[in-house]
Amino acid sequence: MKFLSAASLFLFAFSAAAEQTHPNILFLFTDDHATQAISAYGGPLAKIAPTPNLDRIAEEGMLFKKCYVTNSICGPSRAVVLTGKYSHLNGFRSNGDTFDGSQMTAPKWVWKAGYETAIIGKWHLKSEPTGFDHFEVLKGQGQYYNPGLNTNGETVRHTGYTTDIITDRTIDWLETKWDKDKPFFLMSQHKAPHGRWEPALRHLEWLDDVEVPEPPTLFDDYSGRTKAASQHKMGIADHMGDHRLMLKYSSKHTPEQFKIFDGYFRPRNEAFLKADLRGKERTKWHYQRYIKNYLRCVRSVDENVGRLLKWLDDNDLAENTVVIYSSDQGFYLGEHGWFDKRWMYEESFRTPLMVRWPGTVEPGSVNDTDLVSNLDFAQTFIDIAGISDQKNMQGRSLVPVLEGNTPADWRKTHYYHYYEAGGHGVPVHFGVTDGRYKLIRFPDPKLDAWEFYDLENDPQELESVYGDETYADEQTRLKLELARLQEKFKVDE
Ligand code: CA
Repeated sequence: MKFLSAASLFLFAFSAAAEQTHPNILFLFTDDHATQAISAYGGPLAKIAPTPNLDRIAEEGMLFKKCYVTNSICGPSRAVVLTGKYSHLNGFRSNGDTFDGSQMTAPKWVWKAGYETAIIGKWHLKSEPTGFDHFEVLKGQGQYYNPGLNTNGETVRHTGYTTDIITDRTIDWLETKWDKDKPFFLMSQHKAPHGRWEPALRHLEWLDDVEVPEPPTLFDDYSGRTKAASQHKMGIADHMGDHRLMLKYSSKHTPEQFKIFDGYFRPRNEAFLKADLRGKERTKWHYQRYIKNYLRCVRSVDENVGRLLKWLDDNDLAENTVVIYSSDQGFYLGEHGWFDKRWMYEESFRTPLMVRWPGTVEPGSVNDTDLVSNLDFAQTFIDIAGISDQKNMQGRSLVPVLEGNTPADWRKTHYYHYYEAGGHGVPVHFGVTDGRYKLIRFPDPKLDAWEFYDLENDPQELESVYGDETYADEQTRLKLELARLQEKFKVDE
């Protein structure tokens, strides 16, 4: 179905001509936010921890079920979003790298097209932001309480909860700094819900009396696959470490904040230590503790997204602002016994994407077929800004997809490449998926392995069928596709 009828096209053209401006772009970005923790995506956490404000973006826009990242880790994903290029070409392969701020990025292109540009919140690319009229960013990972924000080169300290403060500062920019003669391109980027999952004080006790359902793969034994997964160091029971158990809230918190945290966590931690839990009981205890704090952090994100949407409503900007919500990657919420990300397995490979664009995107639409990617975000930004030349980027503008007119030659396969060897025990790997099948290559000589999954029969990816004759044709097809994409994207392993 084509959403835009001839009549609405005429009206749209008319109103665009009358305003003579491209829409504002509000990019809301979080860190490590899994689709499993957004109720619009459904699933067992939806009722326990609903996200009504995030869901509103989906209800009034389009929700993508197959948005895949190119490299499932924080800094590299951010570099891809800015440049529209794979990690090996934008130069930011792993979190230890430093972003080359001299290269062209989407904010620089939209600035040239007449937009005012700003970034507020998490940056995490080491070098100072470039291409923004205004930046106000956390140092490195940032902290959940009382953050310092590098404000156009000068550190300004704020007291309070970082998710709230990032929204405060975003609204402040809109109210006091934005030149309203220009459309804005505004990246409002949260630290939450990245570890160590420190909730707002107002949410510390929320979910206390709830038993959160465990994912079916919490006690995965990693049989049925190569030995890659079994070498992980991201187990809920064994790798969260005591520093995550015995909270070291100190200099980062005000005495009052510390007192409240200490009063909340100390009795619970002491109860855990006293119980001396082992084996599955230990995993279960850690899972409950982890998932509740994660969901509490998400709740603040949801509340703050609600504040921004309301601000747009109150200022008559909702109609002419494209709101995009996404995260730098997905995350394991206990699936496979894990926290963290990195793998090409679905939970961290997939990232949330919801886009509201009144007059262009059909409200309440769900795209569960097209393979889209954070590789496409930069080209989408510049396309919205009216730049037709796609600037040698490697993705593709999502605008026609958002209009309900996915081009016939839209990608049928997606290439993935993770470079940060050894982080949480995850080896370098790359692969390709067509949305139904997935081929993964672990090139490390110690592994020298392949995995192949049929996502329809095995959505939890518990059994690699690599080498199974039943899948010989599909496997061959994806191997050829992998080689084709590596050549196309100039991958230099
Ligand atoms: Ca991240």
